Amino acid sequence: MENLNAERRLFINGALVDAEGGRTYDVINPATEEIAGVVASASLADADRAIAAARRCFDESDWSTNKARRTRALIQLRDGLKAASDAWRRQIVAESGCPIAFTHGPMLDSSVADIDYSLRLLATYPFERELEDLGSPMGGAARRLVCKEAAGVVVAITPWNAPVQTNLQKTIPALAAGCTVVLKAAHDTPWAATMLGRVASQCPDLPPGAFNVLTSSADGSLGAMLTADPRVDVVSFTGSTATGRRVMESAAKTIKRTLLELGGKSAMIILDDADFSRALVGASFVCANAGQGCVLNTRLLVPRSRYDEAIAILESIYRNVPYGDPTDRKNIMGPMINAAQRERVLAYIEKGKAEGARLVVGGGKPPRFAKGYYVEPTLFADVENTMTIAKEEIFGPVLVVIPFEDDEDAIRIANDSIYGLSGSVISASPERAMKVARRIRTGSMNVNGAFFFSPNAPFGGYKQSGIGREMGIEGFEEYLETKTIAVPVDFPAAAIAHASP
Ligand code: NAP
Repeated sequence: MENLNAERRLFINGALVDAEGGRTYDVINPATEEIAGVVASASLADADRAIAAARRCFDESDWSTNKARRTRALIQLRDGLKAASDAWRRQIVAESGCPIAFTHGPMLDSSVADIDYSLRLLATYPFERELEDLGSPMGGAARRLVCKEAAGVVVAITPWNAPVQTNLQKTIPALAAGCTVVLKAAHDTPWAATMLGRVASQCPDLPPGAFNVLTSSADGSLGAMLTADPRVDVVSFTGSTATGRRVMESAAKTIKRTLLELGGKSAMIILDDADFSRALVGASFVCANAGQGCVLNTRLLVPRSRYDEAIAILESIYRNVPYGDPTDRKNIMGPMINAAQRERVLAYIEKGKAEGARLVVGGGKPPRFAKGYYVEPTLFADVENTMTIAKEEIFGPVLVVIPFEDDEDAIRIANDSIYGLSGSVISASPERAMKVARRIRTGSMNVNGAFFFSPNAPFGGYKQSGIGREMGIEGFEEYLETKTIAVPVDFPAAAIAHASP
């Protein structure tokens, strides 16, 4: 077993601690199917202590009101994570099977670098503003201040497919806003969270309880408890739409603010005037991280008039997707996260065939790997948008190609989905492409190869892809409450002026 020096302990109330009774579970490397290490398996009592610590820190320390302290703490966290990034990279690849090349981008390095955006918001965000006096039905003049305050204790629950990115996307803006956080990692990717705990334990300006990290073997009970607990103010969840429904139900009992980043079945639309040889290259990106990405364009819409030409180009691309060992920098795709996910993807492929779609490339376990949860890059043609493989999120390296008649038909098909997370359009005509982009009911659109993702770009879904936004100013404001304070017009200025949070 490679010595990864991964952190196995929980982080609760400012200390790295073992789980109750010293319980641990094995972390499996999906590329080798071997045990890569162990990690603490938190109990409900551990989770209770984490919530209590976060609540106490929020209510009793100056964390939510001391912006200078939060700035220092985030700088310490960022610098510590940067210093740890090489060790962290090896841990993440080992636990998730994510291609190492992607850890030099959003899977690690750029997500850590994006902490700077939250620091920028901390320095520039207007936490208070005074309103124009438009009077009041109650009569009398007043000055009215709108104050943005930290929303309270945040429970952040994250998935395994982009674990560092989702952990940081939630934790950093929440901490910057002055909230305290309990992060619960996905059971398959605990080290993407425990490294945060290890580095946080070295940050002198982070008070005990401001940030807590829990890892636990899968039984759903920890997530259910965290989302129902009355001491928690906000639940920030990223995961499947099915679990998102349960989270919403559980949080509803105490009317918690709920941010949901859920699944997708996004469409890439190639209009009939596009240069196919260039446009279709992007379609192979569905195989990135073995298709385990919520924003991937897993439905490809091509004009019926050029359908055969498109399939011929795609067949050659899909036969040559570089995949295999995730530690090899040339691969864009490693294994599926675990055996169950591989079986789920293979079952979808069988369903596609049974419902009449034409399998062009792949469709099974690649024979060249004796070990590892691999699935071949898979291409389906002759797909109807009503088929299961076009409607449901497969979360594997499977592209379905759907023909359309004209631009209106393409828009109709793209929008005919319970999801609305992302999408793309490509056309030789910028005006035509933009017209289509504006009509798709989705949280982000990429036009002619440009990519929406950036630290200041709000990210989230329409429809059953979620509620709320992460990143950007909108993502920061998810962790703020709004309070209006009215004072008499002759109120002393010195009483109004105070250090904003
Ligand atoms: P998942 O099964 O929904 O799990 C997500 C997280 O929820 C895990 O930490 C899981 O813990 C936890 N959980 C399980 N049951 C729970 C419950 N009853 N209450 C609260 N939490 C519970 O999703 P996944 O399979 O890990 O991730 C893949 C999904 O995430 C895909 O659907 C993908 O589209 C979506 N995703 C969305 C975005 C986005 O921004 N929109 C980004 C990335 C991924 P355990 O691991 O312990 O079960």
